[in-house]
Amino acid sequence: MIYLDHNATTPVAPAVLEAMEPFWRGHFANPSSSSMLARPIRRALGQAREECAAFLGCAPEELIFTSGGTESLNTALHSVTSQQPGRRHLIMGSTEHEAVLQPASWLEQAQGYQITRLPVDADGLWSLADLAAAIRPGETAAICLMWANNETGVLHPIPEAAAIAAAHGIPLITDAVQAAGKIPLNLRESGVSYAAFSGHKFNAPKGIGLLYMARNTAFQPWFLGGAQENRRRAGTENIAGIVGIGAAARLAGEHLTHASLATLRDCFEQQILQCIPGTHRNGHATQRVPNTTSLRFDGCHAEGLLLLLDQRGICASAGSACTTGSLHPSHVLTAMGLDPAAARSSLRFSFGLSTSQEDLERVIHALAQSVSKFRSLGTAG
Ligand code: PLP
Repeated sequence: MIYLDHNATTPVAPAVLEAMEPFWRGHFANPSSSSMLARPIRRALGQAREECAAFLGCAPEELIFTSGGTESLNTALHSVTSQQPGRRHLIMGSTEHEAVLQPASWLEQAQGYQITRLPVDADGLWSLADLAAAIRPGETAAICLMWANNETGVLHPIPEAAAIAAAHGIPLITDAVQAAGKIPLNLRESGVSYAAFSGHKFNAPKGIGLLYMARNTAFQPWFLGGAQENRRRAGTENIAGIVGIGAAARLAGEHLTHASLATLRDCFEQQILQCIPGTHRNGHATQRVPNTTSLRFDGCHAEGLLLLLDQRGICASAGSACTTGSLHPSHVLTAMGLDPAAARSSLRFSFGLSTSQEDLERVIHALAQSVSKFRSLGTAG
């Protein structure tokens, strides 16, 4: 199988699995225990936090371990809203992930919040001018903007947005799930208040993530209970997952191989655009992460194309993994101005550590065949 769906999830790296293994076997003690058995566990916990902090450009105490991107984003939104009950307005991008859109809809419908959803242009970018204009002094509780879009890979100007937020004393939460490991990140310099990360997007296992909160950010925990994570996230720690995300962060920091993927991606994209008629790129040409391309194929339907590719041993996706199978066209692509049929004719290819030139040549060939088969059947709709 040629796997080109790394934005949905990545395989666990062998070195990560190796680092985790002892924590499923002999090293099983509860890190909060006073027993000698707990010492190596606590050490591993501290080391993983340091590795993650070095990778993300922050201090270890600015990070807490969570179950993933969704929990981190929900926690950050809970923290900013519960601490400022008088402020009932939120700003977010219109192309955010469901992990932001759904809690925002709940705040809107069940709690009476007002939400400004920033429009994006045809390249998938919102503007800093629109952001500045949307701020309601004294009313806006937070700004929540993704760093990299999961469907198109488009990169937003988060440090610039954070500067605007800071000038108004408003916390900026960023969904950095699709940015980690793909572009160098320095959270301390970025000026954001909160940032969310998910291990399974950069070769750690599923079910482990991180929430960054800048030093001196007032925080209201979401999970209450034990004193874990310095009372910021209760619950016995997922030690093997934590060791795994630490090892994956070290690996990603050492390699940041995704930079070399840009050449592969651009070449792949150019060949498809040139060789298969009626194809178009979705999203900005250069302002995006290096591993992602979103392409649309006139007269085709993504689900049908995916089936044909699957039969040829190729795994791509129709967009966000969370909306696969959904009857609705992608909200990201329709926000960029595509009509529903055009949005439904789009495929996302996202590369990872194992993606090779040879694989991509096979994919281009299979894609050309699948598109012409689909078009000859005339089943688009
Ligand atoms: N945000 C973005 C941009 C994502 O792509 C994802 C996962 O698909 C998430 C948040 C949710 O992360 P998790 O799967 O760790 O909950």
